[in-house]
Amino acid sequence: MPLPPDDCLFCRIVAAGDHVHAADGFVAVRDIAPAADTHLLVLPERHVDTFRDVAAFSDEEAGRMLRFIAETAARAGLTDYRVVVNVGPGGGQTVFHLHWHVLGGARLPGFH
Ligand code: 5GP
Ligand code: ZN
Repeated sequence: MPLPPDDCLFCRIVAAGDHVHAADGFVAVRDIAPAADTHLLVLPERHVDTFRDVAAFSDEEAGRMLRFIAETAARAGLTDYRVVVNVGPGGGQTVFHLHWHVLGGARLPGFH
């Protein structure tokens, strides 16, 4: 497995340990610039650049990642919410450590 880039912001956030929720190799943190009343980020602890590389996860790990996302939303008290992954600069990705946005509550950005 390739070593993570030593300048990865989200690897540092994983290592810092101040998480909303952590289990099974995944962590949830609050987005520093929330785009909705609840805006959490779910990250794998291990460095994977982007969702494009999702094949880096075993089927079992990928399943746990999905369950962790749903669990993170439920623990935040959300029943209605949006899960977003921006993929590559053209898809709006600005931090190149895979992360899932979990957005809920008021100010939920819309897709029309
Ligand atoms: P992207 O644009 O890559 O999909 O999302 C990156 C997200 O990371 C943005 O929503 C941005 O607000 C958030 N972010 C950037 N820097 C930090 C940080 O230092 N801490 C946290 N918690 N979130 C960050
Ligand atoms: Zn990283």
